[in-house]
This record gives sequence, C-alpha cells and structure tokens, in this order.
Amino acid sequence: MSLAYIGLGSNLDDPEGHVRQALRELDGLPLCQLVAHSSLYATRPIGPQDQPDFINAVAALETKLSPLALLDQLQGLEQRHRRQRLRHWGPRTLDLDLLLYNQDTIMRPRLRVPHPHMHERAFVLAPLEELVSAAQLEPIVLYQQSLAEWLKHLEQNGIQRLSDPGVTTTATV
Ligand code: AMP
Repeated sequence: MSLAYIGLGSNLDDPEGHVRQALRELDGLPLCQLVAHSSLYATRPIGPQDQPDFINAVAALETKLSPLALLDQLQGLEQRHRRQRLRHWGPRTLDLDLLLYNQDTIMRPRLRVPHPHMHERAFVLAPLEELVSAAQLEPIVLYQQSLAEWLKHLEQNGIQRLSDPGVTTTATV
C-alpha cells in the first residue's frame, strides 16, 4: 500500500458540490481507499482575479496503483467533471493534483512529485497541515522544512476554512 495526497480545487458550477463528489469518487477508484480529507477551504484565485473564488481541499488516499496509474485515474475523474480549461490559471470545474506519493521524488514528463508548486501555495499547505495533524498522519517534510515553516512565509489572508465538514473519513463526505 502507498499513501498519496491529492489536492482538489474547483471554482465553477457549484464548486463545493464538485469537491465533495470528487472526494467520494476518490474513495471509489480502483485499488484506492480514502483515509481522510481536510475541511473545505474558500480561497481567492491565483492569476486572473476576475473569476470566482475556489473551493480547495486535500485528501489522503491509500492506493495500490502506481503513481502514473493514479494520475490516469485522476485525469479521468477531471474529465468526468467536464473540466473546462479556457485559459491558464482560469476557472475550472475540477482540478486534481497528485501532491505526494509516499516519500517518492518523480520527475517524468507527465508527472512531477512532490507537486512542483505545492510549497508555494497556502491553499494546498493549509488544508494539508490540518489533515496531517488531525488524522495523526506522519508529519510531512518538504525540502527539509515542515509544512508550518513553509506556511509562515505564505500569505494566508485569502484562505478561509469552512467549518463543515472538518477532517473526516468517507462516512460524512
Ligand atoms: P494542471 O492544469 O495544472 O492541473 O496541470 C496538468 C498537467 O500537469 C498534466 O499534463 C499532468 O500530466 C501534469 N502534471 C505534472 N505533475 C503533476 C502532478 N503532480 N499532479 C497532476 N498533474 C501533474
């Protein structure tokens, strides 16, 4: 079994609904089981500001899929949510990023792990830190720094944790 962390984001057509549904669908992927997920967060977009706020969350997934097979599944899920990419960093119905896969470093044309931008993004690190500590998962160290240390340097004003559902397993998604 491997442990993967997935970043979820949506800012089109009922973003909360897309993220909640995607959490259930992650649990239903072949050879995968959702361990826990963070609260949902409302976050301001990076890049163009003339688009709706995002809903973001992070999920911990146990999987027997290889990293590339997992990426295939994530991309299939994005397609099923009719992901529309109108412009770079623009609105999308569902964005799924493979953030971490065990402690692996992967540098393939299609897949870079740890996700190359995760340490720069409070909307990824804040839910990830919440998830890891509340679900008592192994602390994550990224390039020799803890998540809390990375977060100290990041602007977090645009990140609002929504009270419901909190860190939980599939039962209440
Ligand atoms: P984005 O539009 O930002 O979701 O990027 C999608 C592209 O990034 C796809 O072509 C993926 O193959 C590639 N990619 C590289 N590394 C990752 C990763 N860790 N998670 C998701 N997509 C990735």
